Amino acid sequence: MAQMFYDDDADLSVIQGRKVAVIGYGSQGHAHALNLRDSGVDVRVGLREGSKSREKAEAEGLRVVSVADAVKESDVVMILAPDQVQRKVYADEIAPNLQKGNALFFAHGFNIRFGYIKAPEGVDVVMVAPKGPGHLVRREYVDGRGVPVLVAVEVDASGKAWDLGRAYAKGIGGLRAGGIETTFTEETETDLFGEQTVLCGGTSQLVQYGFEVLTEAGYQPEIAYFEVLHELKLIVDLMVEGGIAKQRWSISDTAEYGDYVSGPRVIDPSVKDNMKAVLSDIQDGTFAKRFIADQDAGAPEFNALREKGAQHPIEVTGKKLRGLMSWIQDNDADYVEGSAA
Ligand code: NDP
Ligand code: MG
Ligand code: MG
Repeated sequence: MAQMFYDDDADLSVIQGRKVAVIGYGSQGHAHALNLRDSGVDVRVGLREGSKSREKAEAEGLRVVSVADAVKESDVVMILAPDQVQRKVYADEIAPNLQKGNALFFAHGFNIRFGYIKAPEGVDVVMVAPKGPGHLVRREYVDGRGVPVLVAVEVDASGKAWDLGRAYAKGIGGLRAGGIETTFTEETETDLFGEQTVLCGGTSQLVQYGFEVLTEAGYQPEIAYFEVLHELKLIVDLMVEGGIAKQRWSISDTAEYGDYVSGPRVIDPSVKDNMKAVLSDIQDGTFAKRFIADQDAGAPEFNALREKGAQHPIEVTGKKLRGLMSWIQDNDADYVEGSAA
């Protein structure tokens, strides 16, 4: 069983006694910076020249400086720029300004696990990874609750890295819910596997295939949309509340019987073999190499795939139908429908 810890197992003063630089002010960055600030931690935000995020951070009363200056004046550096740019930001602006005794923090182990970032000797390397999107991390904190976090220590140079990691986790509100001890390797590999095979990749493809089969068979796209996409949330909510068992308890006997007899026909054992192949590409670095090579080339493959996804007919139908459902609010002010970016 996993080692878990809570608010009482961490000492907030450990992080309150440090100077924290939060690099990036996006989904995770804004949540970490604001939650730490509200927990009485000395925080500054490091952003690049001309950053679009600067105004947002300053509007919240945060001090924004260059990445290099943020690192220089801090002894804890949390890197919350996108994974694919971290390597460059690290090499250009963070590494030259890191000192012995500093701590380098991540919210995902990608760059450490695959060797794109190598911390110098004498620097703690710690991960605090909330198991939820940044906007939820902020919202829960404001409401007095928290989103569970994974905590890992890759390098314990100071001998106190775990205390620091737990204190940081408490500062962002994560230990109100609970922290789970893990490693950079376990977090990175399972995170990539989950998002690729089930949460994002698997689900997106399943929904698109379901929509295609129904519309190609002559059913109306609006009806297909409700059956294969809209209702997914209700099912997933039940699973999150009480596992697959609660979902099956709640649905009709007809649906439950269909689940048993047709589920394994659609997701047959070959899918498990496919998942193993994906896992192996994650473990041996094939996925990371492909992703980073494409990003380094200006992301031609990524952009083409994004464009193709955005043009799937289900998006057109969905946009129209969501407009009819006033209770479906898009509460992410930054998200512009139709622009995948
Ligand atoms: P975002 O894409 O939301 O980060 C964007 C931020 O990074 C913006 O403030 C942007 O500023 C800044 N940025 C972009 N390029 C640079 C650069 N070259 N130098 C400095 N700042 C830059 O990232 P996420 O919050 O999604 O991810 C951050 C980390 O958190 C990743 O490691 C990710 O895996 C992890 N994570 C993310 C989760 C999530 O909910 N999204 C969940 C758990 C972990 P600008 O305005 O200049 O573009
Ligand atoms: Mg991920
Ligand atoms: Mg139905």
